[in-house]
Order: sequence, then C-alpha cells, then structure tokens
Amino acid sequence: MKIILLGAPGAGKGTVAKLLTDFDGSVQISTGDILRAAVKEGTDLGKEAKAYMDRGDLVPDSLIMKIMEARLREDDCRNGFILDGFPRTIPQAQALKELLKKLDVRLDMAVNLDVPKDVILDRLTTRRTCSNPDCQAIYNIKSNPPTPEGTCKKCGSPVIQRDDETEDAIMNRLQTYNDKTAPLISFYEKKGLLKNILSLSSVDTVEEIKKHLAVEGVD
Ligand code: ADP
Ligand code: ZN
Repeated sequence: MKIILLGAPGAGKGTVAKLLTDFDGSVQISTGDILRAAVKEGTDLGKEAKAYMDRGDLVPDSLIMKIMEARLREDDCRNGFILDGFPRTIPQAQALKELLKKLDVRLDMAVNLDVPKDVILDRLTTRRTCSNPDCQAIYNIKSNPPTPEGTCKKCGSPVIQRDDETEDAIMNRLQTYNDKTAPLISFYEKKGLLKNILSLSSVDTVEEIKKHLAVEGVD
C-alpha cells in the first residue's frame, strides 16, 4: 500500500502505521521518528531541527523535503509505504506530488484519523517518556503508568514529560495542526484520495483501512 496518514498530534498515526506494516510489509516512514533520531545522534540535521521541535513548531519544509526525497528513493519503499506525520503543510503536499510523479509512484489514498478534540487533549497531556535516550519508552499516567516511583519499567530511568509535551508546547502543536495541517484534508478530498475514519481504536481503524484498500483493489 502507498498511503498517507493524516491526523492531529495524538490521533494515533504512529500506532496505526505500525499495525499496518505487520499486515503487508509496507514500511512506516515517520518524519517525527527520523528527526528525533537525528537529534539524538547530534547530526547537523538534528541540531537544526531541535529548537523547532522543542517549541512544538514545524521544521522548515525545505529540510523535510530533503529528508523525504532521500527516504522515498530507498529500495524498501518499492513494496509500499505508510507516511506518518508527512506531509504536514500544503507546500509539503505539493512537493510530495511532484516527487512521486518524478519517481513514477501512485498514491492509493490519504486516510484522515478523525479523533475528538477532548480525547486528543487528554492523550497528549497524560503522555510521559523514559528519559533514557536509548530507551524512550512511552507511558500514559492513566492507562499505562510507569512505576509508582515514576521510573521506567524497562530500564529504571526517570520517566519525564518531553520538552514538546509541556502544556505550552502541546497547545502550540495543536494550533499549528489547525493552521497548517488540517487544510490537507480538503487538499486530498479534492483529488479524490481522502478516506475519513472516526478513529477511537487503532485496531478498528486498521481493519477499516484494510477494507478500503481491498475495495480499491490495491495489493
Ligand atoms: P506529533 O504528531 O505527536 O506532534 P511527530 O512525532 O509527528 O509528533 O513530530 C514531532 C515534531 O517533529 C513536530 O512537532 C515537528 O516539530 C517535527 N516534524 C515532524 N514531521 C514534520 C513535518 N512533516 N514537517 C515539519 N515538521 C515536522
Ligand atoms: Zn526506559
């Protein structure tokens, strides 16, 4: 499959993408994961991206397109890909269209994971992350808490609120989503590529995506 996952921060794009790779071997491409790995390794890309990410701002389109062009040219993308967190702006979507044309690749669909605002806010504010850079296990203080001492169950390091998970940064990420990313829904709708899914359970959402793919005759 060759699909885009759209949705607000906290909509569950990453979880859905991972479940879909198990289904048909398509690769998950998460710009957020690529950027966090670059920050961790301290590469030039990581140094440039970090300040934007900590504030909850978007990294500049030019930087993202450089990353994505290199990534989509890799061999493992031939069998299919699930784009998670990209495109995030209209200029990125336009650049992606040109890039796919150049690579002679046709997109199957853009899936919008529609999640009510209160659910999103609750998920984002209760998320916690292991502070050990080699672990980064994700917790949720309500549904999947760390130890009572606030340490990681896997590695014992303190579990913290990431810089981009403070209340200010979360509000900024949601505002940025509304201003810059939500317009992509009608962008793909106009192209006849959009599937809107009310997404409260990742497992149900994955089943629905598979159904749509079957109808469209995608392999
Ligand atoms: P979330 O969806 O939870 O906000 P991601 O893991 O997708 O988080 O992204 C984390 C951060 O990485 C974003 O807040 C942004 O700074 C940056 N980022 C990720 N993808 C993009 C993109 N396509 N364009 C610009 N910035 C991006
Ligand atoms: Zn840990």
